[in-house]
Amino acid sequence: MHAMVLKKPGTALEWTELPDRLPGPGEIRVKIAACGVCRTDLHVMDGELPDLHFPIIPGHEIVGRIDALGPGVAGLRVGERVGIPWLAHTCGVCPYCLEDQENLCDRPLFTGYTRDGGYATSAVADARFAFPLGEIGGDVELAPLLCAGLIGWRSLSIAGNGRNLGLYGFGAAAHIVAQVAGWQQRSVFAFTRPGDATSQAFARRLGAIWAGGSDEMPPKPLDAAIIFAAIGDLVPLALKAVRKGGRVVCAGIHMSDIPSFPYSLLWEERQLVSVANLTRQDGIDFLRLAPEIGIVTQTTRYPLDQANRALSDLRAGRFDGAAVLVP
Ligand SMILES: [Zn+2]
Ligand SMILES: [Zn+2]
Repeated sequence: MHAMVLKKPGTALEWTELPDRLPGPGEIRVKIAACGVCRTDLHVMDGELPDLHFPIIPGHEIVGRIDALGPGVAGLRVGERVGIPWLAHTCGVCPYCLEDQENLCDRPLFTGYTRDGGYATSAVADARFAFPLGEIGGDVELAPLLCAGLIGWRSLSIAGNGRNLGLYGFGAAAHIVAQVAGWQQRSVFAFTRPGDATSQAFARRLGAIWAGGSDEMPPKPLDAAIIFAAIGDLVPLALKAVRKGGRVVCAGIHMSDIPSFPYSLLWEERQLVSVANLTRQDGIDFLRLAPEIGIVTQTTRYPLDQANRALSDLRAGRFDGAAVLVP
C-alpha cells in the first residue's frame, strides 16, 4: 500500500510505500476510493492536538470497498462499500459508553489521529465503526459526509430547533449543514471571513438568506449559531448575534483562545456549548437521511500524492466546499 505519512508535526506529508496490512480480529481492510480533507487534519499536521504519535496517516472521511475481513466480522462482506469515520473505536465499558455518549468515551481511538487513516490506498478499521454506504452516490461526493456532514449534523441537533440559524465559517461542514437546515425550513445566516465575497455567494447559492462578514451583525437576532471556524474571536461575536436564550455551538476540535468578553453577552440565558466527535447513532441517523434531503456536496479532487497541496489550499481558503483525495 501507499500512504501520505506525517512523520513529524509541522512538516509536509511524505509519499511512502508500506507493507500491506492484514485485518485483525473484528477488523476490515478497505481499498480506499476517496478520502475527504478536514480542518482537523490541519490541526494534526500542526501538532495542535494532544496524544499525537508519529508517524501517522491522517484522514478520517474514508469511502472504499472492503477487500479483506478479519476473524469474527459479522454483517459486512468483501466488496461492500463502506465509510470509515472519525470515531474509530470506543471502550464500551466507561461511564460515557454505558450512557449512550460514546462520543465522549474515556479510551477512544480516532481515525487519522490516534489510528492510521485514509490518506492512503488502503486502511484497516474496526468493523463495528464502519458505516455501510450502499450504492447510491459517488465515492468522492460521499466522502465529506463522513465528518463534515456527521459533525455538522450533530452540531445542528445540539443547536436546537430554532428557526434562525447562524453558521460561522462557510466551509465543508457549513455547506452541508446549510442544505440540511434549508430542508428543515430554517433560515440560514452565513458568516465568512470579512470581504470573502466568493464564499458569501457560495452560501447564498446553497440557500442562505443572508451572508456577510463575521464582523457584521445579522439583520435579525439568531436563535442559534454554530461556529465551524477554529477562531476563538468568533465566540463573543456569535454570542452578540443570538437572542435571549439563544445557543452558540462550537463545532471544532481545536480553536484559538477565546478572548475575554463582558458577561452581558452571556447573560439572559444564552448558552455556549461545544460538540465533540460523533456517536455511531449520529452516523446511522444522518446517512439514512442524507439521500432524502438530497444533499449535494461540492468537492475539489486532488490525487492522493497531492495531499499537501489540498491541505495548503484548505488553509488558504482556495476552494469552496470540500477537498477530496483520490488514490
Ligand atoms: Zn473532520
Ligand atoms: Zn468508553
